[in-house]
Amino acid sequence: MGKSILIIGGGIVGLSCAYFLQKEGNQVTVIDKSSMEGGASYVNAGYLTPSHIIPLASPGMMAKGLKWMFNSSSPFYMKPRLDPDFIRWAWAFNQSSSKANVERAIPLIKDINLLSKELYSDMHDSGELGDFQLVKKGLLMLYKTQKEGNHEKEVARRAADEGLEVTELTRAALDTLQPNLNKDILGAVHYQCDAHTSPNEIMAQLKAYLIKAGVVIQTNEEVQRFEFNKTTITRVITSNAIYSPDEIVLASGSWTSGLAKALGMRLLIEPGKGYRINVKRPLGVTLPAILMEAKVAVTPMRNFTRFAGTMELSGINHIIRKERVRAIAKAAENFYENIHITDEEIDEARCGLRPVSPDGLPYIGRVSRIKNLTIATGHAMMGWSLGPATGKLVSEIISEKPLSMPIEGFHPDRRF
Ligand SMILES: Cc1cc2nc3c(=O)[nH]c(=O)nc-3n(C[C@H](O)[C@H](O)[C@H](O)COP(=O)(O)OP(=O)(O)OC[C@H]3O[C@@H](n4cnc5c(N)ncnc54)[C@H](O)[C@@H]3O)c2cc1C
Repeated sequence: MGKSILIIGGGIVGLSCAYFLQKEGNQVTVIDKSSMEGGASYVNAGYLTPSHIIPLASPGMMAKGLKWMFNSSSPFYMKPRLDPDFIRWAWAFNQSSSKANVERAIPLIKDINLLSKELYSDMHDSGELGDFQLVKKGLLMLYKTQKEGNHEKEVARRAADEGLEVTELTRAALDTLQPNLNKDILGAVHYQCDAHTSPNEIMAQLKAYLIKAGVVIQTNEEVQRFEFNKTTITRVITSNAIYSPDEIVLASGSWTSGLAKALGMRLLIEPGKGYRINVKRPLGVTLPAILMEAKVAVTPMRNFTRFAGTMELSGINHIIRKERVRAIAKAAENFYENIHITDEEIDEARCGLRPVSPDGLPYIGRVSRIKNLTIATGHAMMGWSLGPATGKLVSEIISEKPLSMPIEGFHPDRRF
């Protein structure tokens, strides 16, 4: 007989947890305060990125954040605030931005990415969710300056040492893969190890599959507080009802630190806002690419092309800053020939909040103080990639099964 499990948050992480927990025979309920039609898990670039082995917290990032603080169209922005949570997070981020942190994070990030990519492939091949886009053509890192090129080639060499499939491309080699690039692009690094998907499609199909499999999904219902019996959560109180599950999974993305506070815990997470533009006309983009100097992601999704970018640390808000959206559109025009993004397409831009931990690693695991709570969040720029692996690990934790990989590095109790 399975357990009754309440998952708070119906983004890719919460739904992936539901997917694997349901398969283990548990009675699963997912609660989300939104209508589950938008947010980070819908607006993302759809990349599955074993290539992203370097965490955001790496040497020089804090300096970049400070340098770009006053530039309204910069790709990385930290809004200076006297909010104690932000100050604590920024301090921890700065502490983590070291070579030692990067070296510690690389194998963990690589292993969880490879596991997750395999799980996406299994889901795809099983046909359970119906047909969805999963293209394994890799990801191009396009550069216009030797400085960016040299930096990326260094990352590529490290990725190759880690056993990832990656090639340096000259401009001539690049032209055969992606013909309509502007003349001033010098070359690219091609991470063949990566893949891409269309997030809206997978989210819709995953929801439909889960409901059919018996998972209860409650939308527009907000978890507000918890009741305890010593070290066990006994009741979860929402805007509509009261639940008494055996186990609770906190997969509430950028909002998790607020809920953690209601549980008497401190979990450092900052929302990192990003934007997407969809262009529903043929543009000739055949391979996903990151436009290095602009930090913009381009993805040929099913029936449209998506341009996504910016990491704006300005607290929880969904304000669309037009100057940043325009900077994404301009980058696209600067890298590809004959691409023009219209005002209407810019007006239809949407944003989402990435849950960013200070050290670039997610929080996955049980906490020491509460017996029936598992945390699954903090995946920042890799949450789409890492959803399935997180779901699998959470189901193994709750079912007390052997883990698919070691997870000490993701411990939610870790200190910075
Ligand atoms: C522009 C952009 C591009 C990106 N590109 C990529 C990419 O190419 N590859 C990649 O791997 N990642 C990418 N990411 C990151 C990725 O999208 C996120 O890390 C991921 O979607 C986070 O998923 P999540 O389930 O943790 O959070 P979310 O999707 O934010 O879901 C959390 C859910 O919890 C709900 N919730 C919160 N509080 C409560 C409450 N009290 N009660 C009930 N419900 C609650 C929210 O309503 C929300 O729906 C990108 C992100 C952005 C913004």
